[in-house]
Amino acid sequence: MAAPKRVYLFAEGDKSMRDLLGGKGANLAEMTHIGLPVPPGFTITTETCNDYLETGEFPDGLWDQVLDALAKVEKDQGKTLGDPKDPLLFSVRSGSKFSMPGMMDTILNLGLNAESLAGIIEATGNARFAYDSYRRFIMMFSDVVLAEGRAELEKEAYEEILEEIKHRLGVELDTDIPTEGMKELVDRSLAHFEQHYGSAFPSDPKEQLRLSILAVFKSWNNPRAVIYRNKEKIDHKLGTAVNCQTMVFGNMGDDCGTGVAFTRNPATGERKIFGEFLRNAQGEDVVAGVRTPQSIDQLAEEFPAIYGEFEAVCNKLEDHYRDMQDIEFTIEKQRLYILQCRSGKRTGVAAVRTAVEMVNEGIISEQEALLRVAPESLEQLLHPRLTNPTNAKPIARGLNAGPGGAVGHVAFDSPAAIKMEAEGKPVILVRKITNPDDLGGMLASKGVLTSEGGRTSHAALVARQYGIPTICGCKDLRIDDASRTATVGGITLNEGDVISIDGTAGEVFNVALSTEPASMSGDFGVFMSWTDKYRKLGVRTNADTPEQSAEAVTFGAEGIGLCRTEHMFLGDRVEVVREMILSETDDDRKTALAKLLPLQREDFVGIFRAMDGKPVTIRLIDPPLHEFLPHAEEVRHELNALTQAGAPVAEIAAQAKLLAKVEDLHEQNPMLGLRGCRLSIVLPGITEMQVSAIIGAACEVKTAGIDVHPEIMIPLVGHVNELTYLQEILDRVARETMTAEGAEVDYQFGTMIEVPRAALTAAEIAQHASFFSFGTNDLTQMTFGISRDDAGKFLPEYVQMGILKGDPTESIDTTGVGRLMEICVREAREVNPKIKLGICGEHGGDPASVEFCHQIGLNYVSCSPKRVPVARLAAAQAALSEGKGSSRDK
Ligand code: PEP
Ligand code: MG
Repeated sequence: MAAPKRVYLFAEGDKSMRDLLGGKGANLAEMTHIGLPVPPGFTITTETCNDYLETGEFPDGLWDQVLDALAKVEKDQGKTLGDPKDPLLFSVRSGSKFSMPGMMDTILNLGLNAESLAGIIEATGNARFAYDSYRRFIMMFSDVVLAEGRAELEKEAYEEILEEIKHRLGVELDTDIPTEGMKELVDRSLAHFEQHYGSAFPSDPKEQLRLSILAVFKSWNNPRAVIYRNKEKIDHKLGTAVNCQTMVFGNMGDDCGTGVAFTRNPATGERKIFGEFLRNAQGEDVVAGVRTPQSIDQLAEEFPAIYGEFEAVCNKLEDHYRDMQDIEFTIEKQRLYILQCRSGKRTGVAAVRTAVEMVNEGIISEQEALLRVAPESLEQLLHPRLTNPTNAKPIARGLNAGPGGAVGHVAFDSPAAIKMEAEGKPVILVRKITNPDDLGGMLASKGVLTSEGGRTSHAALVARQYGIPTICGCKDLRIDDASRTATVGGITLNEGDVISIDGTAGEVFNVALSTEPASMSGDFGVFMSWTDKYRKLGVRTNADTPEQSAEAVTFGAEGIGLCRTEHMFLGDRVEVVREMILSETDDDRKTALAKLLPLQREDFVGIFRAMDGKPVTIRLIDPPLHEFLPHAEEVRHELNALTQAGAPVAEIAAQAKLLAKVEDLHEQNPMLGLRGCRLSIVLPGITEMQVSAIIGAACEVKTAGIDVHPEIMIPLVGHVNELTYLQEILDRVARETMTAEGAEVDYQFGTMIEVPRAALTAAEIAQHASFFSFGTNDLTQMTFGISRDDAGKFLPEYVQMGILKGDPTESIDTTGVGRLMEICVREAREVNPKIKLGICGEHGGDPASVEFCHQIGLNYVSCSPKRVPVARLAAAQAALSEGKGSSRDK
């Protein structure tokens, strides 16, 4: 069988071929077609990568096709790879369907060896440049292709040689190293390689190319790429394409340079070219944050003609792609080349502003604008801002790379950040620069501060994407990794010290400033109003306090979908709940319930007022006993202590009685035990108290002139009889309370669907309920047979291994749990066409799950307050992509 087509020249592809050519390859092809100055090359398909990763063997037909494409490029350029006279050099870069910035590997200046080096020197007359390119190639090739975990062959070992030479020559910047120094660097790097690798540096350019292609394939599975895909929910099976492109050189002298720019500001969305460039440098220097680059405005001053040309390219690309672009360029001897373009990653703030402005500029429609913004990114707009009431002075300033304010404890590396976060502390990661291996630490941090690197360094890119407030290039900060301290001015920061950073202004404070929540005004408000025009799903919130309810209303919640009444008893009140659960007699329980009643009623009054006429679903108590009772171990320990201390007999007896009761109530599987409606059924009095508090509060606010719509919800019903048993009590108490209060309120009665049996018997249950709300946390637990409390131990591994495509506790498992929901919806509506259907499990704030809820025709989703804007947008996107497939497929 003939081998499939594995290699495409740039001229053969186009932007529609992202699946096969990856984003970078497809865009290089597209830019070639629209006449932009793209250095020629070819792309190896993602399928080929997958073939390699599957078999571990060089895919059949690949090498012949590579040689064929190479020959065509060589012919076109009139140069050949590795030619001893004026050779062609190549870059070999990864590029998957979805951008994974810096997560996989790249090799530049491929094709250099002693002969081709001489050829370059002769052709360009620029020996310094030739040695600089060669030393970079040796370092990258050794690091990426051959090191395989050996530290002596990794980049840092070569950088040490570089630093040594700089120190000896007394120069600060790489660009200040003279030709002789560069030559020495090359010689020492080659010797270093040979000493540690055991044989000479590979000199055959074609062999270099073959090995580099394999290294890029393999880098699909390197740990940082895997973490990134997990976080971004990118399919691990997509594979990467490999782009082999002729090199152009930004490091040939002062009439050269390289840079990265966005057509609009990716942090704020402002319509102004935003970016950085470095004179006499190669692209990696900018992206890796090795030297702090100059602003793109400087390019306008220093290379005005090139800047004009670049502006035209920016406009052409924005018009062509109808989206903000992120562009890599190189200037070789006053000639501009475009090396990459992609849709620019941006903060939530920038995404919204760009979308709204592009609609105003007539570039895209409202509907397109809504589909452009990732729902999750809206949460970033709700990030707190720093407030500075005492006018504290910043101790240092840097580049405002990721907006928002953060306060936390200093951690000097990722492991420390991850450890502190696990201890429950907010963390600010403070590093010289971050590299992609720091992703885990960055995600564990509230803020990131680097002393080096620019706005387009990896720290900045990653931070912006995740909405982590970030300051880069804070030059005055001297970080000493050995002593784990940082100094600025006369101030020393130790690991664990608290600092505040303002990623919007780029300011660092050595005090804990306060923060205030963001507001939903301006572009954000306009954008959110568009979501409401298109969505069909209602959006409610899960809230247990008046404050949460009020916050959710400002974010657009149309009601409360779940008020967990047991949450109102946590904290100081837990003792009273324990008293109620542990009571020996009905009278004891009545006493405890009587203490809870006024507290509950007061809470409901606050919530009804905050919701001001919007529906409020209140769930009767559902306390898994292990969350509310003292641990038997602790009680036993206390009993021993009392006995040993010779405490009064009565006190010891009381403690012994408590221990006996706790042991008596101990459950092997508390999540499947005496909780939800089961508790209210076996312990009389609870339902009476709660209904009296709800209806009493409703009557009180109604009398005060506030509209009120309580919906009382019974949890964990599995059999219709559980529901009807409690319904009788509920209706009786509601009537009695209204009579006593002298008011009438319009309340509704419904249930959660969170036990599979309830979903399967929906036709029976729906006859007694005016609403159903899917409790997908428990429904997933019970349908899948995985414990909510323990699944975190193995589900991430399942996802990574590809056993599950996604984590069912995060996104609804549509083929299992989802099917059950569909059956339930259909059968409930058959017997009760007016029944209102919602969802209140954690999935209500997950965009993919919201899309599923839209598809099965629910009436609303309910989620935490900060997810409300996320759910509103996800619901609009679901409505807009109806019949067109999901916009979320990764
Ligand atoms: C659920 O099970 O989905 C639910 C919302 O209830 P809880 O998380 O309180 O068990
Ligand atoms: Mg539940």
